[in-house]
Amino acid sequence: MYTDTIAAIATGMTNSGIGIVRVSGNDAVAITDKVFRMKGKRSLCEMESHTVHYGYLYDGEEKIDEVMVLLMRAPRSYTREDTVEIDCHGGAYVVKRVLDTLIKYGARPAEPGEYTKRAFLNGRLDLSQAESVIDLISSQNEYARKSSLLQLSGQLSNEIKKIRGEILHEIAFIESALDDPEHVSLDGYGDKLTKIVDNHIDHVERLWKSSDNGRMLREGISTVIVGKPNVGKSSILNTLLGQERAIVTDIAGTTRDALEEQINLNGILLNIVDTAGIRETRDVVEQIGVDRAKHYLRNADLVIYVVDSSLPLDENDYEIMELLEERRVIILLNKSDLKQITTEDELKKHLDKKMIAVSAREKTGISDLEEAIGQMFFTGDVAYNDEVFITNTRHKYALQEALQALKLVRQSIDDGMEEDFYSIDLMHAYEELGKIIGEEIGEDLVNEIFSKFCMGK
Ligand code: GDP
Repeated sequence: MYTDTIAAIATGMTNSGIGIVRVSGNDAVAITDKVFRMKGKRSLCEMESHTVHYGYLYDGEEKIDEVMVLLMRAPRSYTREDTVEIDCHGGAYVVKRVLDTLIKYGARPAEPGEYTKRAFLNGRLDLSQAESVIDLISSQNEYARKSSLLQLSGQLSNEIKKIRGEILHEIAFIESALDDPEHVSLDGYGDKLTKIVDNHIDHVERLWKSSDNGRMLREGISTVIVGKPNVGKSSILNTLLGQERAIVTDIAGTTRDALEEQINLNGILLNIVDTAGIRETRDVVEQIGVDRAKHYLRNADLVIYVVDSSLPLDENDYEIMELLEERRVIILLNKSDLKQITTEDELKKHLDKKMIAVSAREKTGISDLEEAIGQMFFTGDVAYNDEVFITNTRHKYALQEALQALKLVRQSIDDGMEEDFYSIDLMHAYEELGKIIGEEIGEDLVNEIFSKFCMGK
């Protein structure tokens, strides 16, 4: 297969120590040969794959830069094409001049993502892996990095392929039974398929649900801080922010509106809202804040509920706690530097959630809060370390469609429909899942049917 040869700057566009220009395609080596001179007048074309060469890059007789050239021949390269990487000096102008020279001698400027697209088209990566490359590059914390690396190494693809393989097996079975009822019986098949489909529904649903964590990795955890006035909500927010932002006062109810801030806790982003204290109030302006607090509460991924542990609980606390029953909550027992009146045991009687003693004044307990958030979202129920997160909206949508289709199969079985109804929806699920890895149906399906259920048997 002939491909035109593309070239692009692979490193950043700012001045740095080294810049890399990457050339890929059938003429990558020949084009580089025209501009690269190494000792002994040897040519790059004679060199073995995966070797490094020192020399100078020329535009005609004009010396452009001192460079190192890495040679990777097809198919042992990222794109599976002949690839040359040129390490030059990393000044923005120098790198651009190297690229321009390569283009002058026959390369075409690459489009964004074109190397990875070629890696996909040449079968080195499937679509979900190709997409994870972008996620990996843009990851901002350990969780995002690990999750995209897992996807790059094929974990999501493998799960999807496994489910698809099993679905296809059932389609093939139904088809062959319908074609050849004398030899393949569908007696009792509905029960068997129910079990199989239920398993897949669970699996796909789990993947689909993980997209919530994926979103939080990318966009941040929407977090709301609630609690009565004067318990120290603003002080805690300020401590997290490391700066004075909300106005801290001794007069109850001074934080009237909700403030929104983005906080980076060791790479985990919190989109955090400090609300006016939730309590009964006659003050109209403050009432707006209170309503808004309840609104945020309903929509938040995480609620940080602050209690003044130097005071007893009261009616207002009980009311707030009622709202928190079903939410992901961390309770902060603030003012731990003062004499403790409200204890963890006391609180637990009303609301059984993760509790941490902190003091916004002394700045203690804050690292425990950071750790608890990391655990709760990324190592708790949905483990990031050996499970894949869905971080991609396209994948999420395909999973949703597949889930819908599988549920229809289930419905058809329950309703005692004809078997060919099962295979229509099974096929739909198969196709939707295939979109995730970028596979088209067609030939593979046909081959599968004949290879597994040979009629000549
Ligand atoms: P908010 O109304 O819940 O936002 O509470 P603020 O952050 O405005 O704090 C109310 C009062 O409690 C202020 O006087 C703070 O200085 C004080 N405060 C906040 N946190 C602590 C703490 O950990 N220890 C002590 N002793 N006082 C605190």
